[in-house]
Formats: sequence, C-alpha cells, structure tokens
Amino acid sequence: MLPKVQSPTSRRMITLKVLRTTRTTRNFTTVTLGGPELEHLLPTGFDQTVRLFFPRAGQSGLTMPTLSNEAWMAQVLLLPKSRRPRVRNYTVRRVRAELGELDIEFALHGDTPAGAWAMGASPGDPAGIFDMGLTYLPPPDTVGQLLVADESAVPAVLAILEDAPDSLVAEVFLEVPETADIRKDVVAPEGVRVHWLARDGSADLPGRLALDAVKDAALPQGRSYTWIAGESGLATGVRRHLVRDRGVPKADVAFYGYWRHGRSSPG
Ligand SMILES: Cc1cc2nc3c(=O)[nH]c(=O)nc-3n(C[C@H](O)[C@H](O)[C@H](O)COP(=O)(O)OP(=O)(O)OC[C@H]3O[C@@H](n4cnc5c(N)ncnc54)[C@H](O)[C@@H]3O)c2cc1C
Repeated sequence: MLPKVQSPTSRRMITLKVLRTTRTTRNFTTVTLGGPELEHLLPTGFDQTVRLFFPRAGQSGLTMPTLSNEAWMAQVLLLPKSRRPRVRNYTVRRVRAELGELDIEFALHGDTPAGAWAMGASPGDPAGIFDMGLTYLPPPDTVGQLLVADESAVPAVLAILEDAPDSLVAEVFLEVPETADIRKDVVAPEGVRVHWLARDGSADLPGRLALDAVKDAALPQGRSYTWIAGESGLATGVRRHLVRDRGVPKADVAFYGYWRHGRSSPG
C-alpha cells in the first residue's frame, strides 16, 4: 500500500510577510513570502503542502495559532471570528532559501477568500504557514508515472517535475482554464511528456477534460505510479477508470481531492 503522506519530522507555526506578487497568467498569481522565520521550514520539494493563514476581510492583522501540534485547529476555531484567521491548503511552489523566499501559486477562480487575499496582497502583509508534508511518494521500483491535475494542482505538478530525477518517465495531463495559462517554460526530465488541456470557455466542470484525456490515452506500461490531484471528481474519476478499466492495482494510485465543486474549504 502506498503511504499517503510523508509528515514533516519537525515543524512549527511560521509567520512571514508578503514580499511581492507576480501575475503568472490571467488565472494564476504567485505570492512570494519571506522573513526570518522561514528558516524554520524544512523544504522537501515536490508537492510539499502548507496550511496558509491569512487575515479575513476587514481584519487589521493576523492572529496565528501558538500551538504547533494537532491542537492548532481547535485553537483557531475557539478564536472569536473578529480575530480568527482564514486557513487554506497550498503547495510550496518554490523555496529560494538563499534569498529567504517562498512562492505560493494561486489558481484564481472568482471572488473567494484565498483568491481575493492573493489578488489584494501587498508587500508587508502578514501570512502564516504550517508544514503539512508531501504526498508524492513513488515507490522506487516503478517504471513509469502518470500525473494528472487540474489548475489547483498545476503548481504541485510543476514543482514535482522540477525536482524529479533525470530518469523520470511520465505522462502528465494538466488541465487549465485557458490556452493562455499553458506554460512554455516547464522544467522536466526528457522522458516526461506534458499534455496541456485548456477549457477555453467550455461549460464542463474543471477536471472533465483531463479525465477524458486520460481515458483516451496510452498509459505507461509495467508497474507504474499514478498521482492525481484536483477537483474531487477528477481524482476519484481517474482512479476509478484506472482500476476498473485498465486493471491498475488500487495500491499504485495516489489520489487527492484538492477542492470540491460548490463547497468552500472550512476555516
Ligand atoms: C494539499 C493541497 C494543496 C493545494 N495546493 C494548491 C495550490 O498550490 N494552488 C491552488 O490554487 N490551490 C491549491 N489547493 C486548492 C485550494 O486549497 C482550494 O482551491 C481552496 O478551496 C481555495 O480556497 P478559496 O478561498 O479560493 O475558495 P473556497 O472558499 O474554499 O471555495 C469557494 C468556492 O470556490 C470553489 N473552488 C475552490 N477551489 C476552486 C478551484 N481551484 N477552481 C474552481 N473553483 C474552486 C469552491 O467549490 C467553492 O464553491 C490545494 C489543496 C490541497 C488539499
């Protein structure tokens, strides 16, 4: 059975400041965070995830939990709403330890708490992170890989490809809102084929295009490792197809619902 998550060996609540924002494309923006406390993050690369804390609209500052164990969530929920921070899951897109900088890349999707915060973030604004570990854990004996993501997990897959060994052989399906979101500068080993899929105004829910593309695709032969993340229907749909229609052992598929259509994240 694949391990589901590699938890950090040690971690603590980290408070940082926004250094700058960079609009990647129309539907993505990158917020760069930094500050002396960044030295307390142990960067692992790949899809390392953090809980991102930021102020609610109207709050003048950020109240971070003081507990760095599992009880932090209860501590946050006990705060009055006037002081309770927003909390969302985000991938560490890149760390430049020598510069004390960490990038988080947001897929924008309307006027939501995280999107509005990222779009309005200015240098000096506070934000907090708490390391949640990583889930991309291919067993060493796999021959090929299949990576599938919608826009919410594009930052994770791009980070995975940047950190991958030169020997990686993989088929990668990345769905984005528009053709303009397709990256021309993907850094990946030679054996990786990236298939970009753009919805370009189609009424389909995010993830549908990627699911259909995987169903039509020739997939890696031999024992493979699959990592899927995005809207929960994409994650479960691809897994179901691989297991039922392609005979892939359940144990070789790691799948993660990053968000659910019509449901806000708690916090
Ligand atoms: C481990 C992990 C890592 C993640 N890494 C990233 C990352 O690096 N970058 C990133 O952009 N996202 C990432 N996500 C997804 C992100 O946490 C969710 O999209 C989150 O819901 C965004 O919060 P919000 O405040 O924008 O929207 P919410 O308040 O949670 O939701 C508001 C509405 O927006 C909808 N919605 C939420 N997300 C999306 C979306 N992506 N597209 C369209 N509609 C959406 C919801 O269904 C709801 O109707 C990650 C999630 C997980 C679990």
